[in-house]
Amino acid sequence: MKAIRIYEHGEPDVMRYEDVAEPAPGAGEVMVQIAAVGVNPVETYIRAGLHTKRETPFILGTDAAGIVSAKGAEVAGFEIGERVYTSGSVSGTYAEYAVCRVRDVHKLPAHISDAEAACLGVPYATAYCALVLRGEAKAGEFVLVHGATGGVGLAAVQFAQGRDLKIIGTGGTQKGRALTFAQGADYVLDHTRENYLDEVMEITEGRGVDVVLEMLANVNLNRDLKILARSGRVVVVGNRGTVEINPRDLMSRDASIIGMSLMNATDAELEIIHEAIAEGLQDKSLKPVIGEELPLESAAEAHRKIMESGAYGKIVLMP
Ligand code: NAP
Repeated sequence: MKAIRIYEHGEPDVMRYEDVAEPAPGAGEVMVQIAAVGVNPVETYIRAGLHTKRETPFILGTDAAGIVSAKGAEVAGFEIGERVYTSGSVSGTYAEYAVCRVRDVHKLPAHISDAEAACLGVPYATAYCALVLRGEAKAGEFVLVHGATGGVGLAAVQFAQGRDLKIIGTGGTQKGRALTFAQGADYVLDHTRENYLDEVMEITEGRGVDVVLEMLANVNLNRDLKILARSGRVVVVGNRGTVEINPRDLMSRDASIIGMSLMNATDAELEIIHEAIAEGLQDKSLKPVIGEELPLESAAEAHRKIMESGAYGKIVLMP
């Protein structure tokens, strides 16, 4: 099969498109024939060896969509040929085939395309975990999706809309902000403008927001604390550096900062998360936005693009 493999950590060009032996599913695993691969920022960090280094060579990727093409022993509940999306993979999804544990494959309704389905695993699970499980957003509350134009942000806007929250999104481009508005945000601000967060206080009539889903905490965390309502919560979803905050901003509001990593979600939480995704797909309140489709061999281009500003939904690789 064709796959993108990494032999050394480094810049996007370390990814090699090459022929690789097909993996085989073991007990409790299925093989997925991949039709589309969702690209996430975390794969650029893994490729670069940013937080940890992995044994090479390896195939990147957790998110994909396709059909079950083979089953290992002790696999119940899935048939050969069934359409699924993946939220994890033993062998890596930047490939034509990937082996996945049964708990990491999920059934799909027919109206969701392969490219859309490839964008569910990390972004929608993260958005639900941040908004509902960690942020505990309740109907009627204000939520600021700080960085709403990308994969996680748009998923959060869609989940928030179904929960009767008042949604403020932010984006760096006019095109991205228009998309965020069309996806259901009540207000959309330009995070490249100076003092744009003053508008949050105007929108909330001086009260502040109850929940912030923060995509770039090293830039925004200190200012987030100043626009929180009493008992407000900032959920740190994304962060690329360090930041100085004034803890008095938390004290004066009984506020909290909650870090989250999807990797820490328990099996029970993951079950709740993927049930919520299934429900949202079924009632059509959830629908991923595809900004760009590229061939699998263009993984390096996808990695460069996902780290640039100007997000517009998801980048998908097509094997
Ligand atoms: P993405 O599709 O690349 O989107 C990035 C988002 O960040 C865009 O909306 C972008 O807006 C926004 N952004 C850029 N500059 C910003 C600023 N100054 N203030 C606020 N937002 C800004 O990435 P993603 O998949 O949505 O992921 C978002 C972040 O969460 C990434 O850092 C990712 O690594 C992290 N993440 C964490 C977890 C976890 O488990 N904690 C899981 C998934 C993702 P514009 O491009 O419009 O400027």
